[in-house]
Amino acid sequence: MELLIRGGRVIDPAGGVDDVLDILVKDGRIARMEKTVDAPGAQMIQAAGLVVCPGLVDMHVHLRDPGLTHKETIPTGRAAAAAGGFSAVACMPNTKPTADSPEVLGYILDAAASPGPHVLPIGALTVGERGEALTDAAALRQAGAVALSDDGMPVQSAAVMRRGLQAAGAAGLPVLSHCEDGELVRNYAVNEGAVSRALGLPGRPAIAEELMVARDAMLAQETGCPVHICHVSTAKSVEIVRRFKALGVPVTCETCPQYFSLTEDEVPRQGTLARVNPPLRTKADVEGILQGLQDGAIDAIATDHAPHAQAEKALPLPEAPSGMVGLETALGVTLTYLYHTGALSLPQIVKKLTAAPAAILRVPYGRLAVGGPAHITLFDAEEAWTVEPERFYSMGRNTPFGGMTLRGKVKYTIVDGQIVYRDEKERL
Ligand SMILES: [Zn+2]
Repeated sequence: MELLIRGGRVIDPAGGVDDVLDILVKDGRIARMEKTVDAPGAQMIQAAGLVVCPGLVDMHVHLRDPGLTHKETIPTGRAAAAAGGFSAVACMPNTKPTADSPEVLGYILDAAASPGPHVLPIGALTVGERGEALTDAAALRQAGAVALSDDGMPVQSAAVMRRGLQAAGAAGLPVLSHCEDGELVRNYAVNEGAVSRALGLPGRPAIAEELMVARDAMLAQETGCPVHICHVSTAKSVEIVRRFKALGVPVTCETCPQYFSLTEDEVPRQGTLARVNPPLRTKADVEGILQGLQDGAIDAIATDHAPHAQAEKALPLPEAPSGMVGLETALGVTLTYLYHTGALSLPQIVKKLTAAPAAILRVPYGRLAVGGPAHITLFDAEEAWTVEPERFYSMGRNTPFGGMTLRGKVKYTIVDGQIVYRDEKERL
């Protein structure tokens, strides 16, 4: 079966391409990518007016499977990924049991083996994410891990993190670090500041994140082993990463759409839907994040897709779990807040959603190459649509973007040459 994608604006930052081209897909691979391709009999997608880019790569999702399947399953998470334009997602190990063994990674890969977005498992850095004994980095890599992380349970001990970086580095894996000092955040729900004071709640201070970002950047400098800072949320965290990068330290970072679009003011309006770790911060932090995205201090955009059941998010703010779903709104929020504001160009945005995260994980995704696998996403950068959480493919409905009108919509997601998602308005 041949598929011809005709006349779209092809943006492939890894290959330096930004041009109107036809793409012919054959046997799951990109067969041709030229000004004009004639392929009589091929299935055709009229892509004029659309952006055609590498399948998006999300380096930070929670698929909740095994063990927390009342929140999400691997099939529903993959369906949400497809609807969001993602051809590959890296899933965090805070499942039940923890993904700290080859057996659990094997379960995840088996459950994700059917056609559709690829799932790249992240192994736990410590056994049970308890922050004590290290896992077997080489065995986890052998079993398919693309990185190690204790996301959600930040490694509190500098000694453990130092040994973990060395072990992961020796196994050829990056460490993805959720940076929050446990004693400074406890289980507090919101950013420490005006909103936490108004609500009478103890807050999670920015310094709790920044101290650990600085610690991990220094450990990367000392060990020479790569560290990637997850979901950077404060202006000062960005500045720390920027300075260490300038010194040649192997530190990278991501942010998430919620950190460049929303502030702590969302908490009084939306309650637990706006509860996320690290928390939504201030307007000055949003500006710092935008600057980091523009000057390259922030490498990648990830979602931290964190589905929860409605009953869990119905709990009072201090007791509800943290996190929001993100796969199905990521592109729309990103285009609305970064492209339509003029902050970033389309190639800059595409890079942070494709080639940049793939390079950090050292996985062969995020580019369009003749002869390479046909993981391709098509989107309309202009189309306006309203977020309807009840229509998500994800089991999670916990989004602060519900009811919001976004500009920028996924039209097709193609993985291994197969159309795995098509917007209902599109006809072949
Ligand atoms: Zn995290």
